[in-house]
Amino acid sequence: MLRALGIALLCLAVLAPSRVEADAPVVIVKRGDALGLIAERAGVSVEQIKEWNELNSDLIRIGQKLVVGPSAEQDAGPQIDWTPPFDYGAAEPPSKAPADRAPRVAARDPSTAVAVRAHHKTPESPEKKKGGRTYRVQSGDTLTGVALKHDTTISELLISNPGLEADRIYPGQTIDVGAPRPEVVFRFERGDTLLAVADRYDVSARDLARWNTNLNQRTPRAGTKVRIYTRAPVSPSQAVGPTNRGRLENGVRLPPHRGYVIRTPARTYGTEETTRWIVGAFDDVDAKFKRTKVVRVHDISDRNGGKLRDHKSHQNGRDADISYYQDECSSRGCSFENFRSSELDVARQWTLLEYWLRNGQAEMVFIDYRLQAKLYRYAKRKGATKAQLDRWIQYPRGKYEPNGVIRHFRNHTDHLHVRFVCPYSDLRCRP
Ligand SMILES: [Zn+2]
Repeated sequence: MLRALGIALLCLAVLAPSRVEADAPVVIVKRGDALGLIAERAGVSVEQIKEWNELNSDLIRIGQKLVVGPSAEQDAGPQIDWTPPFDYGAAEPPSKAPADRAPRVAARDPSTAVAVRAHHKTPESPEKKKGGRTYRVQSGDTLTGVALKHDTTISELLISNPGLEADRIYPGQTIDVGAPRPEVVFRFERGDTLLAVADRYDVSARDLARWNTNLNQRTPRAGTKVRIYTRAPVSPSQAVGPTNRGRLENGVRLPPHRGYVIRTPARTYGTEETTRWIVGAFDDVDAKFKRTKVVRVHDISDRNGGKLRDHKSHQNGRDADISYYQDECSSRGCSFENFRSSELDVARQWTLLEYWLRNGQAEMVFIDYRLQAKLYRYAKRKGATKAQLDRWIQYPRGKYEPNGVIRHFRNHTDHLHVRFVCPYSDLRCRP
């Protein structure tokens, strides 16, 4: 009797869907992932992900399953738009592209070898239907084989096909094999290794070998081109080299926003990510404060990057100079002039910065040490943990200590300078 009861309970436990996973979108943590990146890709906040997964810290591990959206039943809130903010891998440039925009692949420079186009057919899968969205199982197929054939993984197939069982597929069954992945043609330069390139595009070295039959060394010669069906999002823009000796390919001009005034539009080209992250942060401030306060955006980079008058850096579309939020600001934007630290509008300023910090988008932000003190105290009051503060801000460890994303740098009493990270797929970008 007891034994029967035990079995019944066991069955119940197996049948009962876990609270968070019922119909909720799920991702599996991969190498190089961070909560901020996963949240950004899913279009939700880090806080939401932590709540859905009952996480106490930002720590995640490879292979971990994370719920990245509300389950169908509890989905009473606003609809989440799962499409990426930029149409990665589309055959045409975005329709909103200004007419003066550089072509996707600059013809004048043959070294611009990273091209992106829609991936419709892999060399090994000529039988794949155009668009490649569903696959009919043939006799003899295994799920591993199906996954391999469509450049996807078993775990992704299981996620996109509820009810699918890895060891029980049958001929005639239809499987959703996902959208085609963008194709990238990558040109090796000195120092690039097969493993590093595979890692950056979130594929395996074996995948690279499968797609490129001519590839047999671990470190291909400079100039070798390989085809990659990337699992990482790829944007058309490329930051090349370091910020003080680099350039920008297919840069995107910062779009207008009610939260800022742009001084010289021709000097505000950035990577696609830089411009999207700037807009994202100002959207966030906009959403959290009723009254709009306008700051001034000065230089980012020239259209093609390279040396920019008055600056040492600002060469590859990752640096931006922005005035501080102050108590008093005119409609032309908070001024680019010195002010007393007591006049810093710390609430808005921290909100703007926190967006980049939480999402792992800022590599460095130069802010005068006296202003850092105010930001630090405010963030602490708002519940930032010791670990977050240590990671995010140099204060109170001294202005010459190389700690924290926010750092002191001379001449940053009248504006802040944010340097964004190298975009995930910009392999020639140097931190
Ligand atoms: Zn600057």
